Amino acid sequence: MSKTDYNLIAIGAGSGGLVSSFIGSAVKAKVALIEKNKMGGDCLNTGCVPSKALISSAKAVQVLKKHSLYGLKNVSYEVDFAQTMERVQEIIAKVEPHDSVERYSSLGVDCHSGEAMIRSPHEVEVNGRVLTTKNIVVATGARPFVPPIPGLEDVPFSHSDNLWELRKQPEHLAVIGGGPVGSELAQAFRRLGSEVTMFNLGPGILPREDLDMVQFICDSFEKDGINLLDETTIERIEKLGNTSRIHYSRHGEKQHLDVDHILVAVGRIPYTFGFGLENLGVELNKNKTIKVDKYLRSSIRNIYACGYVAGPYQFTHMAGHQAWYATVNALFAPFKKFAVDYSVVTWCTYTDPELARVGLSEDEAKAQNIPHEVTTYGIDDLDRAITDRMDYGKVKVITPIGKDKILGAAICGVHAGDLLVEFTLAMKHGIGLNKILGTIHPYPTLSEANKMLAVAWRINHSPAGVLRLLEKFHSRRR
Ligand SMILES: Cc1cc2nc3c(=O)[nH]c(=O)nc-3n(C[C@H](O)[C@H](O)[C@H](O)COP(=O)(O)OP(=O)(O)OC[C@H]3O[C@@H](n4cnc5c(N)ncnc54)[C@H](O)[C@@H]3O)c2cc1C
Repeated sequence: MSKTDYNLIAIGAGSGGLVSSFIGSAVKAKVALIEKNKMGGDCLNTGCVPSKALISSAKAVQVLKKHSLYGLKNVSYEVDFAQTMERVQEIIAKVEPHDSVERYSSLGVDCHSGEAMIRSPHEVEVNGRVLTTKNIVVATGARPFVPPIPGLEDVPFSHSDNLWELRKQPEHLAVIGGGPVGSELAQAFRRLGSEVTMFNLGPGILPREDLDMVQFICDSFEKDGINLLDETTIERIEKLGNTSRIHYSRHGEKQHLDVDHILVAVGRIPYTFGFGLENLGVELNKNKTIKVDKYLRSSIRNIYACGYVAGPYQFTHMAGHQAWYATVNALFAPFKKFAVDYSVVTWCTYTDPELARVGLSEDEAKAQNIPHEVTTYGIDDLDRAITDRMDYGKVKVITPIGKDKILGAAICGVHAGDLLVEFTLAMKHGIGLNKILGTIHPYPTLSEANKMLAVAWRINHSPAGVLRLLEKFHSRRR
């Protein structure tokens, strides 16, 4: 094909498609962005932004509940659930301009509102018009997976796409799934006043994380009064008037529980069907993500993918990270290509306490037989955490034996997601714990937890021989 309308068409205006069109327009390519639903995709409308807005209301309730810890008396409050959910929409509206058609048009992107249909590797149809392009970046996202539990379709249930329409507070909410989304929302609903029971198939929540870190969240759930049912299989759900009776088996015993609402949070299925990929024979993985190479190229060489549809990570920042590679590789092929860098991947679960991680966990280091050491620092010892009555959690860093290079770090505590960035930066740029130790951290801040971890590592590696000599040196000088 000789001349085309566009250098690149991004399909889907979520985290991946937005970053792709931003990068494309920044390097002066002609870019079209096609969105069939709302600009901003999952993150803005049904994912990160609404969930963090709801969590912030739940946090406010928690501070009010614990008012006596701060020397306050006679504090009363009432949760207005409908108002809380309206507030979530207000916050979405406030963030919306960042992802809007106006903003992207002003950056030079041609924004099309409508469903994209890929007609050929160089033709995409939208609203009956065929746009021609050199490259396509597929960033069409995913939908919530609804497990085939008998009876589920007959009772009221939500998933992360439609939960935000709820205005009547569930009295007793069953949360199915113990991953990050289920854990964050279970705690938020509990703190806002719903009874919450979590059903988890596996032996514990957040299975990717080390148990000693997750334990802080389990303790917090217990204090909140969340009923956490691990190793539980839901067999069927029965509608009894306004009640949903969940029949489940746990440790060989059959039991049931009555709830008035159910939240399904067991993962998402990528949107890779129904808009032309299958007609072109684009290869998929078993989990329905698009099979991509290290340049994020699909089996059709000018079609790239990022975000949920590319996998394996389901985070906004990873969709954006991949979008850079997909876009640059598409626009500059065959002159330049960059293999996507997954060497320092980070994420955070926004429960209270938050649990953030970068690089290897202790379990992963063991499983991969990587010789390593573990250094920890308890945040219950940190002055600022104590002044703020947030003195719980832990910092954990994995290093090679005898070296201060960071192989992985995890923080469980208040603002863990923000605090972890120091270790992420250090890992990315080869900075070791000694350099973190030698960096001034303002007192009293939560960031000192990272420095205290470095102090702990240093103490464990103090040069015994040199210290013995120093002892002699000082005793002679007395
Ligand atoms: C409750 C919840 C909380 C979350 N919290 C966080 C968090 O705190 N931090 C974090 O990093 N991640 C979080 N995530 C994950 C994050 O939202 C996703 O990783 C991210 O949005 C993926 O971006 P994407 O571009 O791949 O897909 P999406 O954002 O889903 O965008 C895909 C877009 O493509 C559009 N589309 C699909 N098909 C077509 C078509 N044929 N034509 C035109 N348009 C089409 C869709 O309408 C959609 O707008 C959360 C997710 C959920 C569900």
